[in-house]
Amino acid sequence: MQKSTIYPVNEVLNLEELADIMGCNIGSFPSTYLGLPLGAQHKSTEIWTGVIGKFEKRLATWQMQYLSFGGRVTLINSVLDSLPTYYMALLPMPSEVIEQIDKIRRDFLWKGNREKHKFHLIKWEKVTQPKYQGGLGIKNLAAHNKSMMMKWLWRYNLEDAGLWKEVIIAKHGRLNQWCSNITTLPYGVGLWKSIRMLWDTFDQNAYFELGNGVLLKFWTDKWLGNITLQEDFPDLFRIAQDPNSIIAANREGINWDIRFRRNMHDWEVNDLVDLFARLQHCHINLQAADKLKWGHQKGVYTVKEGYQQLCSRNPVIANWPWKLIWRTKLPPKVVFFTWIALYEACLTQDNIKKRKIQFPNRCYMCKKEVETPRHLLLHCEVASELWSMFFCLSGINWTTPLTVKDAYESWSLWKVDKAIKKIWIMIPACIFWCIWLERNKRCFDGESTALGILKTRCTENLFSWTNLYPAVNAEQLQDFTNSLALA
Ligand SMILES: [Zn+2]
Repeated sequence: MQKSTIYPVNEVLNLEELADIMGCNIGSFPSTYLGLPLGAQHKSTEIWTGVIGKFEKRLATWQMQYLSFGGRVTLINSVLDSLPTYYMALLPMPSEVIEQIDKIRRDFLWKGNREKHKFHLIKWEKVTQPKYQGGLGIKNLAAHNKSMMMKWLWRYNLEDAGLWKEVIIAKHGRLNQWCSNITTLPYGVGLWKSIRMLWDTFDQNAYFELGNGVLLKFWTDKWLGNITLQEDFPDLFRIAQDPNSIIAANREGINWDIRFRRNMHDWEVNDLVDLFARLQHCHINLQAADKLKWGHQKGVYTVKEGYQQLCSRNPVIANWPWKLIWRTKLPPKVVFFTWIALYEACLTQDNIKKRKIQFPNRCYMCKKEVETPRHLLLHCEVASELWSMFFCLSGINWTTPLTVKDAYESWSLWKVDKAIKKIWIMIPACIFWCIWLERNKRCFDGESTALGILKTRCTENLFSWTNLYPAVNAEQLQDFTNSLALA
C-alpha cells in the first residue's frame, strides 16, 4: 500500500486515521494519475505546462548543433509524435497552448536555435499545410489534436462491450446507434463533451455498410450514397408512413415494401420509380450487422486519414507542383530552397525591403536591375546563361515564364528521353541553388565567380546528384554529359 494514495473529496473526518489503517499516503487535488491530470479543469492551460516544457526541452537540446532545414522539419514533427499521446488524444488543446507551442516550433524552424533573429520567410499557416497542399508538412496542432480525439468516436462504434462506453451511455444517453447524446449537464463530463462536439466533423466522412438493415434508418441515415433518402426524395419522405423506420421494416421477404400514408399522386409516381431504381443495387445481408464506415480508403478511421480530411478543408494552392519538389533525391537543403523559391520568398533585396529595411536595391549578379526572386533566378543575364546552357540541348526556344513557379513547372513538361527525365527535372532546382550560393558569396563575401566556372559548377552539382539514381541508363547519361560539354 506504500504506493497508494488516498484523496479526500470535500471534507473527510479522521482522514489521517483512515490513511494509517490503509497504510497509504494522503494526497490532494489536482494531481496526476497514470500521467493524466486528475481533479484539474480539463480546459485549464495549467495541465499543458508539462507538454510545453517538453517541447522546449526537446528542441533546445539541439541548440548547439547545426541542423539543416529538412532536419529541423523532421525534428519538429518527431517531438510532437513523442509527446504523451493521451494528452492529445483526450483533451482539447486550448488556443493559448497551441500559440505557445507554435511559437517554439516557428522559432526553431527559422532560427534553428542558432541565431538571434531570422526572418520567417513563409507564413506559418502555409508551413503547417501538408506538402501536397503547398506546405512543409509540419503538423497543424489543432487538426492533429482533433484527429486524435475523433478516434474515440470511432472506438465508440467498435467496442460494444467497453465499460467506458457503458458509462458514457449511462450518463448521456444515445443519440442513435452510432453516437451518444449531446451533453448538457454542466458537471463532471468535460472530457466526453469535447470529444462529442467533434461528431459533426467526424460524421461528414462517415457512411454505412448495409448488413441486415436492423440498425439503419431507411429515410434518415446515409446508407445509400452520400445523402439520405430523405434529402434525395423529399416529397416521398413527407408521405412516408413511418419516417423513422429501419431499413428491415421496409422489406417483405426479398422485396422492398415501402409504406406510405396515402396513395400516390401521378406526379409522385416518377419519384417512386427512381427510388426503386436506386434500391435495386443494394443487397441486404441477413448474416451481417449494419456497420459504420469512415473515410475514403479502407473504411476504417485512422488518425492519419482523419488529419488529412481536416486539412483538406484548407484552401489549396492551385496546381502546386508538390511531387516535383519533394519526390526527388536532391539534398534536403536544395529541396527546401526550391520550395521557398517557388513562393518567391527567398531573401532577395526586395523581400528584405518589404520588412521595412531601407537601402538601394541592385542585383548582385548583373548590377543593373532591381533584385527580386524572379529576376535573380530567371531573368537576370547570369541566370539566363545558366538556363540556356541546358535548354540549348533540347533545341527548343524557351521563352522564360514570368514566375518562378511557372518556370519550374513548364521545365518539367518538356518531352525529354525517359532515361534522363529524372535528371532533367532536377535542373531548375540545381540552377536556383547555384545562383543562390553565388549571390550570397557576392553579397556577403564580396567575391564573384566567373561565368564559365559557374556553369561548370552547376553541371558538376547536377552530376554529383545524378549518382543518386544508379538506375539511370549509363549510356544515355554519357550522351547527356557529352552534349552538355559541347554546350
Ligand atoms: Zn541581375
